[in-house]
Amino acid sequence: MLEIKDLNVRYGGIHAVRGIDMSVPQGNIVTLIGANGAGKSSTLRAICNLVKKTGTISFMGEDISKLPTREIVKRGISMVPEGRRVFADLTIYENLVLGAYTRKDEAGIKSDIEWVYSLFPRLKEREKQLAGTLSGGEQQMLAVGRALMSRPKLLMMDEPSLGLAPILVRDVFKIIQKIHEEGVTILLIEQNARMALKVADYAYVLETGAIALSGSGQELLKNQEVTRAYLGGV
Ligand code: ATP
Repeated sequence: MLEIKDLNVRYGGIHAVRGIDMSVPQGNIVTLIGANGAGKSSTLRAICNLVKKTGTISFMGEDISKLPTREIVKRGISMVPEGRRVFADLTIYENLVLGAYTRKDEAGIKSDIEWVYSLFPRLKEREKQLAGTLSGGEQQMLAVGRALMSRPKLLMMDEPSLGLAPILVRDVFKIIQKIHEEGVTILLIEQNARMALKVADYAYVLETGAIALSGSGQELLKNQEVTRAYLGGV
């Protein structure tokens, strides 16, 4: 579904992403793990054309490398950015409506708001509450819900569990699986490598901008290097 070839991202003198090749097959959950600064967010931002890059990115057989972000969203890619970034001064409902900014089908938008509320009943209860007053976990739900409002075929999530209490981290992973069961392909960035590898069909380990290892989630969970570096093992 998504094919990345020889992707490079540079910020001035910093070569943050160094020639990576990756693919995300339709219907899979693929995860990208790695330490802080490994280049994970830069990779997602490059896919959405939010940073300067070289290399090719194709989605459903079409080269999207040069398309503006809005067109990429229209084709079915949506991102939940790191740190949630909801619109604090708008209500939950208004945030969701904004998530559908590339769409014009009023009826579809309405029914998708109901779909998001069915995934996150708590958002429905608080529909008119300003997003800035929500708890961290609720804001995360809203960020995911807003990304779903473009009806993505591929949902990319940048560290959705960051800063959440362990019980909420489990909820986030349940939601990821639920969204996946509804037919959405997922590319997940996580620092919580153990949880990510458990749900992933396939995983890439990024080290200083390059792919150091890849394999099925189960394979990497058993891999000694991965255990030592990312799973707190010895
Ligand atoms: P984290 O888990 O800490 O978010 P990451 O793996 O997502 O890390 P990136 O955010 O992609 O890593 O950053 C990769 C490298 O690029 C880092 O060295 C970072 O400092 C640098 N970098 C990222 N954004 C910029 C920018 N806008 N300008 C300059 N350097 C940047």
